[in-house]
Amino acid sequence: MRLLMAGSPGSGKGTHSRRLGEHLNVPHIATGDLLREQVSLGTPLGRNAQTFMDRGDYVPDDVMVAMIKDRLAQPDAQKGFILDGFPRTQGQADSLDKMLADLGTPIDAVIVLEVPTEEMVRRLSGRRTCPTCQRPYHMDDEPPKDDETCDDDGTKLERRADDEPDTVRHRLKVYADRTAGVVEHYDTDSVVKRINGEASVDEVQERIRTALGV
Ligand code: AMP
Repeated sequence: MRLLMAGSPGSGKGTHSRRLGEHLNVPHIATGDLLREQVSLGTPLGRNAQTFMDRGDYVPDDVMVAMIKDRLAQPDAQKGFILDGFPRTQGQADSLDKMLADLGTPIDAVIVLEVPTEEMVRRLSGRRTCPTCQRPYHMDDEPPKDDETCDDDGTKLERRADDEPDTVRHRLKVYADRTAGVVEHYDTDSVVKRINGEASVDEVQERIRTALGV
């Protein structure tokens, strides 16, 4: 199955794509994760991307399209994939159409997770990650046992620079201005599944699987 997971920052895209990818046995391809990997490796692409990411702005389309083209050509993506966080602009959507048309592999469904703005702000500002093992936490919903350290390896948890409250507000605005409308690009194909994302992780995952019939 080839799926796109859409929704604003904080809507739960990452969590649900990861779970669904395991269930369907297809890779979960998250552009944010691919970029953060480049940043932590200190590559020229990563250094360039970081300036955009820390401000909550989008990395330029040409960089993103090249990155996805490369990733979709890997052997594990031939059986299907879940794209999380791509396309985020009309230009990216057009490029993805072309890539998939060339491969003869259309998208099966676009899942849109819908969550009210105040809930997205709450989710993002409570989010923490272990810098050693990348385990995600949430200070209210899934807190670590000990104050701010990872349950698995004791490392002090970190907040992503772009989860700081001012940057969160900016990211939500960029999403509303540049990404929310991109979903309409797919509406004509009636592949869009709008899911109410305001419930427990298990419940929302169930809603997604029911909508997809998987
Ligand atoms: P995410 O982890 O999906 O919230 O992405 C983190 C950051 O990576 C975003 O705020 C952007 O700066 C950048 N990013 C991720 N995906 C894209 C994309 N498709 N287009 C442009 N920038 C992106």
